[in-house]
Amino acid sequence: MAYEKNARNDRRGAKKGRKKVCNFCVEKVECIDYKDVPRLRRYISDRAKILPRRVTGTCAKHQRELTTAIKRARHIAILPYTAD
Ligand SMILES: [Zn+2]
Repeated sequence: MAYEKNARNDRRGAKKGRKKVCNFCVEKVECIDYKDVPRLRRYISDRAKILPRRVTGTCAKHQRELTTAIKRARHIAILPYTAD
């Protein structure tokens, strides 16, 4: 054989199952409330970082609002900048 098949390089089909949809679109949220901590918390990691769209499935428009909301929440200290 001239070359071996590189199975590890083929990630197609690795992710199967549910299609991600933007939760804010589903709930028809027009503006994201920065005081809504329980909701915002779902979009930050355990290290208090904002999760990327590819993880949460949030659309571009809502991701932008979400980012702003999280930053506001951090500014008024209802969300952490970093986890301890
Ligand atoms: Zn959306």
